Amino acid sequence: MKRLMLGAASLALITACAHHKDVAAPELADAKPAGPAMTAEGKYLTPEGLELSAPDEWGAWGINLGFRNTDVKPGDDFNAYVNGAWISAFEIPADRTRYGSFDLLGEKSEQRVRKIIEELSAASPDAATLEGKIAAYYNAYTNTDAIEAAGIAPAEPILTQIKSAATREDLAVLFATNGVPSPFGGFVDIDSKQTDQYIFYVNQGGLGMGDRDYYLVDSEKNIELRGAYVTMLTMLLTEAGFDDPAAAAASVLELETSIAKAHWDRAIGRNRNLTYNKLSKAEMIALGGAFPTAKVLEESGLGAQEFFVVRQVTPTAEEIAENGLSAEDAAKVAGGGVEGIFRIMAEAPMDSWKAWLAAGYLRSNADVLPKRIDDAVFAFYGTALTGTTEQRPRWRRGVTAVEGSLGEGVGKVYAERYFPAENKAAMDDLVANLRKAMASNLDELTWMGDTTKAEARDKLAKFTPKIGYPEKFETYDSLVVGDSAFANAAAAGEWAYNDMISKLGQPIDKTEWGMLPQTVNAYYSPNRNEIVFPAAILQPPFFNLSADPAINYGAIGGVIGHEIGHGFDDQGSKSDGDGVLRNWWTPEDEANFRELTDALVGQYNKFCPLDDGQTCINGRLALGENIGDLGGLSMAHKAYRLSLDTNGDGVVSADEEAPVLDGLTGDQRFFMAWGQVWRAKYREEALRRQLQQGPHSPPEFRVNGIVRNFDEWYEAFDVQPGDALYLPPEERIRIW
Ligand SMILES: [Zn+2]
Repeated sequence: MKRLMLGAASLALITACAHHKDVAAPELADAKPAGPAMTAEGKYLTPEGLELSAPDEWGAWGINLGFRNTDVKPGDDFNAYVNGAWISAFEIPADRTRYGSFDLLGEKSEQRVRKIIEELSAASPDAATLEGKIAAYYNAYTNTDAIEAAGIAPAEPILTQIKSAATREDLAVLFATNGVPSPFGGFVDIDSKQTDQYIFYVNQGGLGMGDRDYYLVDSEKNIELRGAYVTMLTMLLTEAGFDDPAAAAASVLELETSIAKAHWDRAIGRNRNLTYNKLSKAEMIALGGAFPTAKVLEESGLGAQEFFVVRQVTPTAEEIAENGLSAEDAAKVAGGGVEGIFRIMAEAPMDSWKAWLAAGYLRSNADVLPKRIDDAVFAFYGTALTGTTEQRPRWRRGVTAVEGSLGEGVGKVYAERYFPAENKAAMDDLVANLRKAMASNLDELTWMGDTTKAEARDKLAKFTPKIGYPEKFETYDSLVVGDSAFANAAAAGEWAYNDMISKLGQPIDKTEWGMLPQTVNAYYSPNRNEIVFPAAILQPPFFNLSADPAINYGAIGGVIGHEIGHGFDDQGSKSDGDGVLRNWWTPEDEANFRELTDALVGQYNKFCPLDDGQTCINGRLALGENIGDLGGLSMAHKAYRLSLDTNGDGVVSADEEAPVLDGLTGDQRFFMAWGQVWRAKYREEALRRQLQQGPHSPPEFRVNGIVRNFDEWYEAFDVQPGDALYLPPEERIRIW
């Protein structure tokens, strides 16, 4: 259980996503700068020396107006109106699956981190210091000659152990071995019902292609992907020295297909009540049936744990009733999940499991093995599955590897260099204003009664914001780094696992962060009731201290609101202000809420961007994120209007109204800022994968699907019946 098969980065249960001052209209003549400098490779060169795939320019007051397509009516396609010129002209780099505002900031972070690492390296630090470890890790990783020369030898000891496994006990030891895949993922987080304790969570895993649909839905695309997958497995099993690699590869696909049948449907799996199953150690072992589960726990350092939370356990009749699960949905998960996977662990042929382990072990370490293995893995995951044609350059992968293993070591330097104190102060103000706006929205809600409102207010008051970077950084004292990239990856994996389980039994560390400062993202943790904004997202186009306030409210304001909104989405709202998973809703308010959220599911189910309208967003799977966006933009807009009401009389009078800039009103700029944040372009394969796996709607629909629910957007852009995005007022949804 030592390494998550999938999504190793999501190690906790988190949902991962300015000032007002009167501004004089800028002089238009000055607003047209000379074009940015370009490199020979066609990258945009920044004054800092970064090379970016798109210009890092945000206009005189925060929006790059040159990227609009003004031939499109805002009411027909608002995303195209704001971003259309950029979308038609931009070409996605060959080593990327998509590109947009998030990726632009990601490129900046990556290059800044590279610079930090290279400077550390150049100073030849002692290998025992943190700086020395970072330098050694990166240098070993980027030394592909040494990796090539080592060949497959570093993997041999474990491969031999896998091939000589004779019993289920031997399998149990392997599943618990660091760096070797396991059909379960496991992680430590706060116990959702006892938030003063940590607990070990067990999650379904085991699918090399990452999602059950690839195995179970017989579309032309999926059948093609399975073929490419077996080709990769055959190559890996040849390398691993299997006698009949093609037959072994076929047995892996067969094994994973049976695991896929046991996997819970993603939309049902979002239900936090159904996925909270606290089992005693004895119950956990009983769930394992004939498989020697006690052995796995022992070998994983979990033998002393009294309790576990197992995320996918067949719901009881009572749970089915309480959660309003349809008979069809209940049948989908019956006997499946972790229980179903245990059964397969006990019953599937040993040879299939051995092939599965060997292929999985080589695949998950492919980046530190010879190029032929790395290439075969890329041909499937990079090209077949996500549409990229070129592997990322080694330095970029080296940065990712260092971030994954020693990320807070680099993060400390990143935060010192790239996060000025004034950003923190401005963010504190913004968060405070968003909170006020949410409080005011709560007062105005007509669908929620007073009892539930009191609980919601209490929850809002207890939100903890974290901004920029953690108070203390990890020092990685006991991690030993040397000159073998393979050994370093194994050591870092072992260190991270031990660090994680060392939290069990300890008091809750409230200062802990689930993301690095240099990560372009944000999150909400329901167990901690906190919203977290790393330094790297606090840059334009999200956060821009020199921009007009409407921009900051529409961009980072919407993102702050989105994260607060997760506390009040269909799942986040199941926890109270202290993070405890308990129902604080009256049945009537819960029913009203469900009716509103069902309507939002219906709206999003109708967005079908692929296969001539046959492949659509799964509105149920994307519901939490869409509630976050809808509530977030609503809070942000309220906060923006409150900021304009400088005398505080509750009305924005004519002299308080925001200035018109370049012919655009404050409200127009506000909605355009939201659109600019989601500027993005996807490869078809990547879009398909996102539609299938969620939970986020593709960016275009995070713009169009949200703004059409705002009366203020209709007024700002004079959107009329007959426009493609038009919704009659009674169909517009306002939840928070
Ligand atoms: Zn989110």
